[in-house]
Amino acid sequence: MLKLLVYGYLTNTYSSRKLEDQAAQNVHFMWLLGMKKPDHNTINRFRSEKLSGVLKQIFSQIVLLLQQEGIVSLKEAVFTDGTKIESAANRYTFVWGKSIKANKEKMKAQLDELWGYAQSIAAEELKDTAPVTFEEVNPEKVKETIARINAALDDKQEVEKKVKQKLNYAKKHWPENLKKYEEQEKLLAGRNSMSKTDPDATFMRMKEDHMLNGQLKAAYNLQISTQQQFILNYSLHQTSTDYQTLQSHLEGYEALYNEKPKAVVADAGYGSDENYGILEEKGIEAYIKYNTFDKEQKDGLKAFSNDSLHYNQAEDYLVCPMGQRMKHIGEGQRVTSSGFVQMISRYQALNCEGCPMRGVCHKAAGNRIVEINHGLRKHKQAAKERLNTEQGIKYRKRRPADVEPVFAQLKHNHGFRRFLLKGLSKTEVEIGLLSIAHNLRKWKA
Ligand code: SF4
Repeated sequence: MLKLLVYGYLTNTYSSRKLEDQAAQNVHFMWLLGMKKPDHNTINRFRSEKLSGVLKQIFSQIVLLLQQEGIVSLKEAVFTDGTKIESAANRYTFVWGKSIKANKEKMKAQLDELWGYAQSIAAEELKDTAPVTFEEVNPEKVKETIARINAALDDKQEVEKKVKQKLNYAKKHWPENLKKYEEQEKLLAGRNSMSKTDPDATFMRMKEDHMLNGQLKAAYNLQISTQQQFILNYSLHQTSTDYQTLQSHLEGYEALYNEKPKAVVADAGYGSDENYGILEEKGIEAYIKYNTFDKEQKDGLKAFSNDSLHYNQAEDYLVCPMGQRMKHIGEGQRVTSSGFVQMISRYQALNCEGCPMRGVCHKAAGNRIVEINHGLRKHKQAAKERLNTEQGIKYRKRRPADVEPVFAQLKHNHGFRRFLLKGLSKTEVEIGLLSIAHNLRKWKA
């Protein structure tokens, strides 16, 4: 069955029905299967159930063979990049985390309003009941509160018709909606979106935007590390930002081979404070640009920018463009969307009044205040020096020719632009089969 699938992915045959047909008609498949003819259900079950969780080990065996042959080295530099692959989910099946939060808030406010109304009309009936707060709501609490309001207002003639209608609507829909929101929040697990028909998929902006309308599509973020255009590691992620994927991608590499690459070469999408720190800690050289690297190479540091201010480490002060000392006035923290804590130091110029550069230097009312992340500044400086060494220039030239053609090969030459299966574990199997097929194809090319 594995031979059937690998050969299928080698020959761009991904669907289980087409594989079933090939097994019955194509002499290569017949030979590989020893004339057995599995049906599409069996093929699908094997692919989605039996291979899940074990395929990566099989993939690694092929990479180890490549290493044995001297074609790749797991200890050398790897070229890492990511691409988004559309999920098999139906389009327009959005579930938004922010909408869930907003709906819950609206429900809380309306419940609070109804409770207040009930108290104004039936204060006597509700006087012995415990006070109710709506900071936290759950289906049981909503059900119970609506029942209490209904009981208190039951025989009151003065209750407005629209309140009765609202209470009926709330009784019928709110507990159920809340239950649905709770389940969806669990599936979202901190993400801002997911698809109803493939909850593991996140809505992402794709490069392949044929309608040119920036439409979001349910997708997975595929990360690969390559060497000589061979895939050494792959991982699928539910976030669209590349910089948040590097740590777990590298951990996967180490777990698979018990080895670390000497260097990671990647584009500016990975150049974050957190990633530079992780690589430094692991003893891996980071040939990773930061967001302003190319611009700095071309035009130098932007005049008056925070990065252009000289820092005196011994006495902990900055020097402003007029040569004035900027005094250290405090420390702070910033938490990134991935939960990483950045340490921020604040500095202030002593007197900006009457400075001839005042108009171009800053727009604040008083003296200029800047926030400096010394950790990131240090990492950026080290990355800049590394990227401008002879080795760094070689890696920079090689990166787009090593990893990017692999995506072009998979998506354009072999037509794999959309997953056939749904769910993270099953799509991982698809990517594993695709990577095995890619490596074998390239090896024997
Ligand atoms: S405006 Fe203030 S911070 Fe800017 S150059 Fe003049 S003195 Fe320095």
